[in-house]
Amino acid sequence: MLIDMDKLVSLCKRRGFIFQSSEIYGGMNGCWDYGPVGAEMKRNIKDLWWKDVVQMHDNVVGMDASIIMHPRIWEASGHVDNFKDDMVDCKECKKRFRADHVEGDRCPECKGELTQPRAFNLMFKTNVGALADAASIAYLRPETAQAIFAQFLNVLTCSRQRVPFGIAQIGKSFRNEITPRNFIFRSREFEQMELEFFVEQGTDEQWNKYWIDRRIQWYYDIGIEPKRIRVRPHEQNELAHYAKSCVDIEYEFPFGWQELEGIANRSDFDLSQHQNFSGKKMVYRDEINKKEFIPWVIETSAGVDRILLTVMADAYSEEEVEGETRVVLRFSPKVAPIKVAVFPLFKKTGLQELAGNIEQDLRKSMSTSYDEIGSIGKRYRRQDEIGTPYCVTIDYESLEDKAVTIRERDSMKQERVSMDQLKNYLTGKLEL
Ligand code: ATP
Repeated sequence: MLIDMDKLVSLCKRRGFIFQSSEIYGGMNGCWDYGPVGAEMKRNIKDLWWKDVVQMHDNVVGMDASIIMHPRIWEASGHVDNFKDDMVDCKECKKRFRADHVEGDRCPECKGELTQPRAFNLMFKTNVGALADAASIAYLRPETAQAIFAQFLNVLTCSRQRVPFGIAQIGKSFRNEITPRNFIFRSREFEQMELEFFVEQGTDEQWNKYWIDRRIQWYYDIGIEPKRIRVRPHEQNELAHYAKSCVDIEYEFPFGWQELEGIANRSDFDLSQHQNFSGKKMVYRDEINKKEFIPWVIETSAGVDRILLTVMADAYSEEEVEGETRVVLRFSPKVAPIKVAVFPLFKKTGLQELAGNIEQDLRKSMSTSYDEIGSIGKRYRRQDEIGTPYCVTIDYESLEDKAVTIRERDSMKQERVSMDQLKNYLTGKLEL
């Protein structure tokens, strides 16, 4: 079902997924903070990406670069000159909009007259060191990719990889978006997961296809409904001048089909630019075939926050249970922030100790939660709202028969499992 975004935003706050940044000071537009379960879930998404892209490929290695880099990097990449959005201002209410987000020449909010479009660079500028002069200007990176190109030679040498091979990175990026919107979908500070895969020209199309297929499969594997995922090739007039081709992986959000990830064949543009600007030869020497070339690049670039929003929107469901509305996040166990919650049926000595011991033991293998407050029904609902796949209840019988009740989130079915089988049972079901 296509869900109501307001409900999702309020659930995110209530249950500790996402808060407005600096809320007690009135908020910071375009910035968001992840709460206890949001932080867990974000880590899961990044780990799942890293596992699939780096760990499962012997020809992909990782790196972790600094956010502030030499400003020449952004001249070479074209960001200083070209990373701009056209923006228009309303002459009446003074609000600012992206020109491609408004139709006509009237303000979408107050119908006032708009200015002509003006280019606005999206990079955040800062000064490094004590002097705030032109020589000290630096930028917060607007993408993680450029550090990979800038370190291409070092990584190539130390990793002893041969083309085709890739370098992957996860990290924060910053863009001074004119109109941050749709919750965490478009923010000013966000995280990217990027892979630059270096190939020989002529093999680029086959690798491009490989990565498009692989990345789509990953979305299915983390539980996204396939009918809400599509691949949209860019039209010729949308392509950056250096890109040979580009596709967006899109998801059908409540606010329409939107980009989650871009996959581009970037030719040898990036390494050639850095060669020109740095004076360092960015070539790969193929010792076996005795040739030397600047590799071509297939890039996959995904946003962690957008994927988290996708997973949440895709998993959200409401249903009637015994006359009440049950809100449940039907996450794949892989992304669920808490895998299992443990409850003593009553707040009574004996039950509390046993439940506590069971939870302490499960903690070693999975993320857990212990809850003894309120009725069992209320405790189930709390876990449903954060998408916990399994709840384990310890009752008086458990003291006798050494077994516990496991309740599954989606079917709400309950099963009795012996304590010595519990961990195996759960790790099997959770595919840990
Ligand atoms: P858009 O057209 O939506 O501004 P883009 O085409 O400029 O995005 P890319 O530069 O291709 O985006 O960035 C790669 C990925 O990084 C995007 O697919 C998205 O998941 C993520 N991303 C980009 N900008 C933002 C943002 N402002 N907030 C959150 N995620 C972002």
